[in-house]
Amino acid sequence: MESHIYNIALLAAIDERLDELIEDYGDLPEQIKKKEAKLNDKKLLLNETEMIVEEIRDFIKKAKRTLVELKDKEDKLTQQQFKVRNNKEFDAITNEINHLKTEHEKLADRMRTEGIKEENLLNILNQQTAELDEAQKELDDKFEEVQRLAGDQDRELSSLREKRSTVLNTIPKKFIADYERVRIMHRDAAVLIRKNSCSGCFNAIPAQIIVEVRNNLNTLYFCESCGRLLVPEDCVIEFEEIA
Ligand SMILES: [Zn+2]
Repeated sequence: MESHIYNIALLAAIDERLDELIEDYGDLPEQIKKKEAKLNDKKLLLNETEMIVEEIRDFIKKAKRTLVELKDKEDKLTQQQFKVRNNKEFDAITNEINHLKTEHEKLADRMRTEGIKEENLLNILNQQTAELDEAQKELDDKFEEVQRLAGDQDRELSSLREKRSTVLNTIPKKFIADYERVRIMHRDAAVLIRKNSCSGCFNAIPAQIIVEVRNNLNTLYFCESCGRLLVPEDCVIEFEEIA
C-alpha cells in the first residue's frame, strides 16, 4: 500500500491537471465570441465599402448617359446656329451651347474624380476581403480546436475523475479535509521539498522537519511560510501516473 503522503501528492497532481483542463476549455467560448465579433465587424466594413462602390458605379453609369445627351443637345444647337435669322437668336443659342459645354465639363470632371474614388475603394475592398477571410479562418480554427479538445478532454476528464475518486478512498477523511483547506489558498496544495525548500513558496524548511517528512510518510506536514502540504523530495508523481 502506498503511503498517505504519496496518495496526497497523487491527488494534488490529478487536481492540478483537472484545473488545467477546465481552464483550457473555459477560455475557449470567450475566445470564440471575440472571433465572431471580429468577423462581424469585418463583414460590416466590407458591406459598407461595397455599397459605396455600388453608388459610384450607379452614378458613373447615369453620368455617361447624361454626357451623351448633353453632347446631342449641343450638336443640335450647333446645327441651329446655321439657320438663325438674326444676331439675337445667334447669341441666345451661343449662350445655351456654352452653358451645355460647362455642364458637360463639370460632369466629366466629377466622373473622373468618382472613377479614382472607385479605384481606391476597390483596393480597400480587396484588403477588406482578405481580412474577412482571415477572420473567418481564425474562427474556423477555434471551432476545430473546441472539437478536438472536447473529444480528447472528455476522455481525459472522465479518466481523471475516476482516478480521483479511487485515490480519495485511500486517504483518511481528516487528511482530505486538510488538503481541501490548503487548496482554497493554493491550487498546488501539495508540493515537493526541493533543495531543502518548499517548492511552492521557495522558503527554506528546517532540517529537522525535512527528516521528519521523510520518515513519517503517513503524517502530514505543512510549510510554515505558505501552509502548503510538504511532499518528500523523492515522491515525484510522473505524468504517466495520472495520464
Ligand atoms: Zn511554502
